[in-house]
Amino acid sequence: MAHISDLLAGGRTYSFEFFPPRTDEAERQLEKALHELEPLGPSFVSVTYGAGGSTRERTRDIVLRINRDTSMTAMAHLTCAGHTRAELTDIVTGYRDNGVENILALAGDPPMVADGAAAPPSDLRYASELVDLIRPLGQFCIGVAAHPELHPRSAGDRAADRDNLAAKLRLADFGVTQFFFRAADYLAMMDDLASRGVDRPVIPGIMPVTNAGQIQRFAQMAGAAFPADLAARIGAVEDQPDEVRRIGVEVATQLCRDLLDAGAPGLHFYTLNRSPATREIYANLGLPGTA
Ligand SMILES: Cc1cc2nc3c(=O)[nH]c(=O)nc-3n(C[C@H](O)[C@H](O)[C@H](O)COP(=O)(O)OP(=O)(O)OC[C@H]3O[C@@H](n4cnc5c(N)ncnc54)[C@H](O)[C@@H]3O)c2cc1C
Repeated sequence: MAHISDLLAGGRTYSFEFFPPRTDEAERQLEKALHELEPLGPSFVSVTYGAGGSTRERTRDIVLRINRDTSMTAMAHLTCAGHTRAELTDIVTGYRDNGVENILALAGDPPMVADGAAAPPSDLRYASELVDLIRPLGQFCIGVAAHPELHPRSAGDRAADRDNLAAKLRLADFGVTQFFFRAADYLAMMDDLASRGVDRPVIPGIMPVTNAGQIQRFAQMAGAAFPADLAARIGAVEDQPDEVRRIGVEVATQLCRDLLDAGAPGLHFYTLNRSPATREIYANLGLPGTA
C-alpha cells in the first residue's frame, strides 16, 4: 500500500470518496460504482465513517476489502466524536495490523441520540487531537479536513479558523477539502495557509450537482455558498433531470480545470457511490483511464 503523501510528492492525485451503504440495494450500488471507477486507476479512494461510530465495522470492512480485492488503495475516515481514547486506539491498531496505512482524521459531528438518551462520551474534541493519538500507533499517513469557506462552527471568525487549520495541517501529512463551487475560495484558503507558513498539499474536494433537490441540502451541510448564477441555471431546468446533470457536470469540469490551472495538487471526487458524473468529468478533463 502506498502512503498518499508519497503519491502527492510524485505528482497530482485523483481520488474518489465512497460511503458505507445501509441496505442491500445500496450495497449493490457501491459495488457497481467501485467496479466502474476502478478502470480509471485512481491514486486512492476513501471510505467515510458514520457519526459516533455508526459505521465502525462497515467502514473497516469496505476499506479492507478494497485493499485486498481491488487494485485501489483505500483510506479510512475516522471521527473522534462519540468515542473514547481506548476505542479510537483499538480501531487504529486494527487498521495497522491489517495493513491500512492512510487515515483521514476528523472531529466528526456530534452523533444523533434519541430524546432523553445520553450522548456517548467523546474523549477528544478536535481532529488535531486525533492526529496526535494516531501518530505514535504506527507508520500512518494522516490526512485532515479543510473548509475553504470556513468551518460551519467557526461563526465567521476567519483568522481563528485558519489558525486552527494551519495548526492541524502542521501535524498532518495532507488535507482534503469540503466541496465548494468557486476556485477563488480554495485559492484564498491556500494563500491564508501560505501566509502562516504552511505548505502541506490540500486536495480540493469536488461535488458535481446531479439533481436539483441536492443543492440547498448539500450547501447547508457543507457551509458552502451555492453561487446565484448556478442556482438560476439549474432552477431554470429543474424539471429536466438530464439537463440538470449536464449542467452540473459542465460546471464541475470547469471548476476542476480552474483548480488544476491554478496548481492544485489533485482532485478528490465525492461520488455519492455513483460513477457516471465522475467518469464524465474525468473524460472531459482527458485524464488517464478514459482513453
Ligand atoms: C474531506 C472531508 C471528509 C469528511 N468525512 C467525514 C466522515 O467520514 N464522517 C463524518 O462524520 N464527518 C466527515 N466530515 C465532516 C467533518 O467531520 C465535520 O465537518 C466536522 O464538523 C468537523 O470536522 P474537522 O475534522 O474539520 O474538525 P476540526 O478540525 O476539529 O474543527 C472543528 C471546529 O473546531 C475548531 N477548532 C479546531 N481546533 C481547535 C482548537 N484547538 N481550539 C478551538 N477551536 C478549534 C475549528 O476552527 C472548527 O470550527 C468530513 C469533512 C471533510 C471536509
